[in-house]
Amino acid sequence: MTSTISINDNHLLKLAPLEVPNRLLLGPGPSNAHPTVLQAMNTTPLGHLDPAFLALMDEIQSLLRYVWQTENPHTIAVSGTGTAAMEATLANTVEPGDVVLIGVAGYFGNRLVDMAGRYGADVRTISKPWGQVFSLDEISTALETHKPAILALVHAETSTGARQPLAEVGELCRKYGTLLLVDTVTSLGGVPIFLDEWGVDLAYSCSQKGLGCSPGASPFTMSTRAMEKLQKRETKVANWYLDMLLLGKYWGSERIYHHTAPINLYYGLREALRLVAAEGLANCWQRHQKNVEYLWESLESIGLKMHVEKEYRLPTLTTVCIPEGVDGKVVARQLLLEHNIEVGGGLGELAGKVWRVGLMGFNSRPESVDRLIEALKQVLG
Ligand code: PLP
Repeated sequence: MTSTISINDNHLLKLAPLEVPNRLLLGPGPSNAHPTVLQAMNTTPLGHLDPAFLALMDEIQSLLRYVWQTENPHTIAVSGTGTAAMEATLANTVEPGDVVLIGVAGYFGNRLVDMAGRYGADVRTISKPWGQVFSLDEISTALETHKPAILALVHAETSTGARQPLAEVGELCRKYGTLLLVDTVTSLGGVPIFLDEWGVDLAYSCSQKGLGCSPGASPFTMSTRAMEKLQKRETKVANWYLDMLLLGKYWGSERIYHHTAPINLYYGLREALRLVAAEGLANCWQRHQKNVEYLWESLESIGLKMHVEKEYRLPTLTTVCIPEGVDGKVVARQLLLEHNIEVGGGLGELAGKVWRVGLMGFNSRPESVDRLIEALKQVLG
């Protein structure tokens, strides 16, 4: 007996080929990918176990060590956005009951708190008003009080625009046998980072900000100390996809299939890292600093103020105070729809109080600043 099932066309769309507006992405990320990164991503995919692709993975690993200034053997890209790489740090090292101390001075500190709790950590926090950073003394006192297995800090808090100083924190952590975990999502490629010098044990980032790629292939690294904690676990890593013991067999010498890598994103990441290497890390950091100082001066010249004290401002992300009587959302919408420029709004405590302006990777150029200032002059009148 044959039965015919008819196709339901309720959701059928007859679409034209994709066309998207050409925006200048000056928000908290993503930023515009470099044109040659887009070209690289437009290359024919290889298989994920093809020797040519495996060689490219090795190049990514080496260049990630360069941009992070680390010798960590286990340095890879996670297939997923920054949040996946963030989750990987905690999933692999937190065992139920471990004390995890988290510095919360913005939205992403809170995300770490939520995640660490889900992996069974005994979460303790230290807090600061949004836009401020922790002093070495405050960190030292908290370590003495909590003696945590892991201390997690956000190097570049994208919700506030503040840069957390990290020098000497690793040394303190070693006194208590604590692993130092650092979020470098908005700092990698744009803000000086010396992971090994600073004694950082676990770090993660993203591809779509300072590195100037598209989102989806996220840097992850762990020190030998962190790897030892993973190897000594009594329980399996609760997240199969992010288990570094399994992933290490794909990224390391064994080359065992784990998941199908997002091939073209890895092409893009390789090209983005190649560009940073060609420019030179020091030059890349200096470019970000120079352009953000031009941004601050230009914003001040039209009467706007920054939220964070100059000493702690990020070169990649600036929080700009919304003037009294101005509706920040309306301005951001006008910038987007009339000038094709994206800026971000405030999150959490800073909602409605600041705009977030990113100058990251390919977008960290004087032309980006000039375009934004011209548009702001028109919109603010
Ligand atoms: N951590 C920080 C500091 C971030 O700014 C972001 C995203 O902007 C994330 C983590 C999460 O990254 P993603 O949005 O790529 O998942």
